[in-house]
Amino acid sequence: ALPVHVVGAGLAGSEAAWQLAQAGVPVIIHEMRPTAMTPAHRTGAWAELVCSNSFRSDDAENNAVGVLHAEMRRAGSLVMASADAHQVPAGGALAVDRVAFSEAVTAALRSHPLVAFEPGVVEALPPADWGPTIVATGPLTAPALAESIRAETGAESLAFFDAIAPIVHRDSIDMDVAWFQSRYDKPGPSGTGADYVNCPLDRDTYHRFVDALARAEIVAFRDWEKDTPYFEGCLPIEEMAARGPETLRHGPMKPVGLTDRHRPDVKPYAVVQLRQDNAQGTLFNMVGFQTKMKHGEQVRIFRMIPGLERAEFARLGGLHRNTFLDSPKLLDPTLRLRARPHVRFAGQITGCEGYVESAAIGLLAARFTIAERGGAVPQPPPATTAHGALLGHVTGAGRLPGDEPGTFQPMNVNFGLFAPIAEPTGNAAGRRPKGKEKTAARKQALAARARADFAAWLDAQTGRDAA
Ligand code: FAD
Repeated sequence: ALPVHVVGAGLAGSEAAWQLAQAGVPVIIHEMRPTAMTPAHRTGAWAELVCSNSFRSDDAENNAVGVLHAEMRRAGSLVMASADAHQVPAGGALAVDRVAFSEAVTAALRSHPLVAFEPGVVEALPPADWGPTIVATGPLTAPALAESIRAETGAESLAFFDAIAPIVHRDSIDMDVAWFQSRYDKPGPSGTGADYVNCPLDRDTYHRFVDALARAEIVAFRDWEKDTPYFEGCLPIEEMAARGPETLRHGPMKPVGLTDRHRPDVKPYAVVQLRQDNAQGTLFNMVGFQTKMKHGEQVRIFRMIPGLERAEFARLGGLHRNTFLDSPKLLDPTLRLRARPHVRFAGQITGCEGYVESAAIGLLAARFTIAERGGAVPQPPPATTAHGALLGHVTGAGRLPGDEPGTFQPMNVNFGLFAPIAEPTGNAAGRRPKGKEKTAARKQALAARARADFAAWLDAQTGRDAA
């Protein structure tokens, strides 16, 4: 049978290769390490963890990444099995012995009878005569391949830096302080002229806020990140603050064209705007707030903003070297490159973020390829599952109409990406939960539904593949 080529044996490529081989599909893995290295990898082992040794929360009842773990285990994931086998104590998190973990992944693949290995750098986007291919070359894709992808997809479609603004859960914004309004009431895609959430700052609050930004602890760029230019249009917020106390008021925090709905007679001195980030309307991003502040500092300082005192963050800001595609534009719903449908992309290069998420997208790319080989039309998992929610972020199912191209940014899995669920009903005593209790109940309901729906999706796949 024709093999499937998997380019890159990182988290995503290793998982993809395993899923294919376990389904009886021969695989050829192309990996450049240790002959050529990325700036972050240190070894020639597959699925090397380049930084932290944590797969984050393992709580499948209450946490979105924990649900993703559970779904992956259910699908026979090699990454999860190897992590489970080489766990180190880390409370509720799943952390691993990084060396033993990646050795286990490497050994399982190297000894698999259906897996072959071709060492070396893949220099260009594979041509059609390679047949089905999964490209999973990660955030530090080798330059020649990145250039080839850029040539094929257009300069706007492959970014070399992410510029991540924090994203807030809509239900944690205090709407007794904030209000909905577009600048100058300009109607956007919704047609209402009220697309943005606005948080007002008076003069004192603004100056305290700018002062805090200018003194915040930041994460330094790594040496190899320093020479990639990124500055046009995405200056970190703290850097703008450092340029002068009024800079932000004339930039992303300008108060013009906005009237405080709660206090129409008080002109805000500055305004932070948040824009809807997903079709469900559960997530809002802080416009223009890309930052290199440490995560703890971000939470502390952004909660100084009136209306965000109790903000819960689905994602904190960042700025890193990161090669990723404008996937909602370039990829179809099953991760195929529209312009070259024999190529699927997987892993962080598709615009997910994190070890677990990258492996999960690798798992899906493989399962779609397997379904296709069986003559079926691959079916994405539903948006009620962690895999489906993450895939929706990547392929654009969760996008808003009217979202400009080039605004796509990577994201970790989180409950805000899941299809919303009806309000939790009363508990045994018939009382409707409120506040924190309500949020907890909602997460549990989302998690339980996800696990059940993913199991059903897998069973349907297996039944169909076997038929
Ligand atoms: P990778 O795991 O990077 O795998 C890509 C593979 O492709 C590599 O083995 C590479 O050698 C190979 N390759 C690249 N180009 C070619 C080519 N042309 N030909 C052949 N082979 C090629 N996530 C977390 O969850 N926690 C963290 O702490 C964390 N820290 C990070 C730190 C840094 C510096 C970076 C860059 C990312 C970090 N991430 C972290 C994000 C991300 O989850 C990881 O980068 C993850 O490894 C991505 O998985 P992947 O499979 O997409 O890519």
